Amino acid sequence: MVSIVIVSHSKKLAEGVRELARQMVQDKVPIAVAAGVDDPENPLGTDAMQVYEAIASVYSDDGVLVLMDLGSALLSAEMAIEFLPEEQQDKIHLCEAPLVEGAIAASVAATSSNDIDVVISEARQALTAKAAQLGVISHSSFVIGEEDINRSSDSRLPTPDSHPTKEIHLTIRNPQGLHARPAAQFVTTVTQFQAQIRVRNITRNTDFVRADSINQVATLGVRQGHEIAIASVGEDTDAALLALQKLVENNFGETHHTSSPHLHTFSHFPQGIPAVPGIAIAPVFQYHLHQIKVHELCVADVEAEWQRLQTAIATAKQEIQNIKDRIHIHENEAAIFDAHLLILADPAIIEPVQKRIFEQHQNAEFAWNTIIDEIANSYRHLNDVYLQERAKDIIDVGQRVLRSLLGVSTANIELTQPSILVARDLSPSDTVQLDRTKVLGICTLQGSGTSHSAILARTLGIPAVVGINSQILSLEPGTLLAIDGENGNIWIQPDSKTIATLEAKRDAIITARQQARAKAQAPAIARDGKRIHVFANISSIADAQVAIAQGAEGVGLLRTELLYLDRTSSPTEEEQFEIYRAIAQILANRSLIIRTLDVGGDKPLSYLGLQAETNPFLGWRGIRFCLDRPELFKTQLRAILRASSGHQIKVMFPTIATLAELQAAKAIWAEAQTELSQAGIPFDKNIEIGIMIEIPSAVAIADKLASEVNFFSIGTNDLSQYIMAADRTNPKVAPLADAFHPAVLQAVQKTVQAAHHAEISVGLCGELAAEPLAVPILLGLGLDELSLNPQSIPQIKQIISQFTTQEAEAIARSVMQLDSATEIKSFISNSPLFKGS
Ligand code: PEP
Ligand code: MG
Repeated sequence: MVSIVIVSHSKKLAEGVRELARQMVQDKVPIAVAAGVDDPENPLGTDAMQVYEAIASVYSDDGVLVLMDLGSALLSAEMAIEFLPEEQQDKIHLCEAPLVEGAIAASVAATSSNDIDVVISEARQALTAKAAQLGVISHSSFVIGEEDINRSSDSRLPTPDSHPTKEIHLTIRNPQGLHARPAAQFVTTVTQFQAQIRVRNITRNTDFVRADSINQVATLGVRQGHEIAIASVGEDTDAALLALQKLVENNFGETHHTSSPHLHTFSHFPQGIPAVPGIAIAPVFQYHLHQIKVHELCVADVEAEWQRLQTAIATAKQEIQNIKDRIHIHENEAAIFDAHLLILADPAIIEPVQKRIFEQHQNAEFAWNTIIDEIANSYRHLNDVYLQERAKDIIDVGQRVLRSLLGVSTANIELTQPSILVARDLSPSDTVQLDRTKVLGICTLQGSGTSHSAILARTLGIPAVVGINSQILSLEPGTLLAIDGENGNIWIQPDSKTIATLEAKRDAIITARQQARAKAQAPAIARDGKRIHVFANISSIADAQVAIAQGAEGVGLLRTELLYLDRTSSPTEEEQFEIYRAIAQILANRSLIIRTLDVGGDKPLSYLGLQAETNPFLGWRGIRFCLDRPELFKTQLRAILRASSGHQIKVMFPTIATLAELQAAKAIWAEAQTELSQAGIPFDKNIEIGIMIEIPSAVAIADKLASEVNFFSIGTNDLSQYIMAADRTNPKVAPLADAFHPAVLQAVQKTVQAAHHAEISVGLCGELAAEPLAVPILLGLGLDELSLNPQSIPQIKQIISQFTTQEAEAIARSVMQLDSATEIKSFISNSPLFKGS
């Protein structure tokens, strides 16, 4: 496809033109901008390097049309061409067409023709339409003759004599008539067909013009109420006329009024939080969760009341067990229901309820509900989003017991047709029982990406958007709804065009996922042959199995904290050794990076003496804690060393902020090695040592740290929160800690440079590695390895194969010039090189 580059002295002007052009063609044409200079005092100007990067970012063998505003823009563009490889230079066409009209005409033409000459010709004629409308030139001078129809080299234009011409007449009803956007839609629709199509304005008695030319269609001056004639000849004439008729009858998607006008367009409807990626388009099914209310009663026979509660708890346990048995869920997700069973056996709940029944003669429902509410509230007030979400599990279990006590049947969500489920909130029990053939999508007011309902929906493959405005609850059941779980967008009664775009996106996602899964076991190789190692982040033996199945080439981060959680004392050397060895065995010859204990921060552990702190992320965590507890640290190091015998194990220290910390950790590591050697216990003598680069000070002294270790792994989760001074667990500021922010990416770049200068390898194991949009940046910055959650591995491998290293480097260079995470993400998603996921 022909692509377009807009060169201007003003960034605002160029971006405005791009926005306008993109709107006309629904983002179908690659358009890059090279505008302004990097000087806050004097931002107006052009820069040849920028023009080169813009051209490189949208380069296509079909040709690149460069439109410039004035003066030095032309010089910069000419110079930029010289930077390109010789074989690409003659594909770049500098065009004298007017910037705004030219960009729009060229974009529309590029949607229909891969012929650069056609696109140039449309751009050059762009002023003619305006001139004709203003009467500067007569309309007739612009009307086509048969020779015009055949002027193009486009193969679909010559008239096939064997087909008769068909003509339809339509009245234009949308308020602005065939103004720019509808005209562009009209032309884009025309160009989807082989038929030769012409159009004329009957009301204004014009002649026919080419319907595939935005310039010519615009000269017809079609207003609301005008009648147009569309004449078509060719094999697919019927389909073409039908499509155009539909477009006109749908008013180009412009006018739809419903009983709730404040809801019907996305622009008036705030977007939600993306929870599970995917597209769903279906009627609304409103699900109103019925919360059981209870009243206090005084009971005489406390023993019988207690028995009643015991029976209800036993029934609830049986129901949960049935869910687990009936529904095939992955071990990790099944653990959610194991947790529910534990809640039912928790003495911290049972004992106070028993006390209320026996001592205060309260009825079982009231006693139970009071304690459940108290416990749920204590979770809600915790300073951790993940733990806050656990309140829902408590309520879920609590309601199950209440239903059993009151003899109310379990509320199953029964849908009669495929729908999008809209609810204030969904419990894990509700979610896991959803029939995925009927529930195509989920929208809730509450929840977050880490809620168990979202985790389960992800496993079931149901797209979900959460945190939506409560207006959605007032939608009539059956109202057509569309959701995009990737970005949290919602459309109420989407028009046919939106539906078509979303359907295309949905199909593309499904195909891409299938293809990615089929190729997941192959190595990740960029288009120029460069290999990137794609590893998994795991926490357990079960995760290791999943990682291999998803195509992990090794483990780039084994978080060992899980071994220390949910217990009353730290795991012994033997216990740890068994687990590390079991994981290494599952991985066979693949590499396993074991990160030493990183508790503290958002993972307090009271039995280790880690108490709540005012600023936990700036406090006693990770390596700081381990260096203060050398015996505990050495126990873990000895277990890692022992497991390394015969396996590809490496050790990694977290939260390194200073050289002294690293040296102290290495000293304890050396002690552990000496002890094992003296005891004759085997271990890998060449075991590699690495560190996480996740604190800004470590980035600053990366060159010094690099000389002490074998590898770096960049932890962008922490690095982002520390660079941006925004607590990653605090929803009010967490969005600031965006790893796409240029400040974070610069830190990544600096770390990679320091590592490579010292000839050590450098990976990245923060969540950024699982972001499709980050792939070209990370490839371009030169990361040797990415480590991410196993589920994302097939997709990320597939995206790596879409780029050459050179393309990724050009992208990385360009994004480093941008001002915000949002700009960077939109730059990548609009890059023609990014074919998405
Ligand atoms: C990180 O900080 O990016 C990282 C991978 O470690 P964790 O998320 O475990 O802190
Ligand atoms: Mg970290």
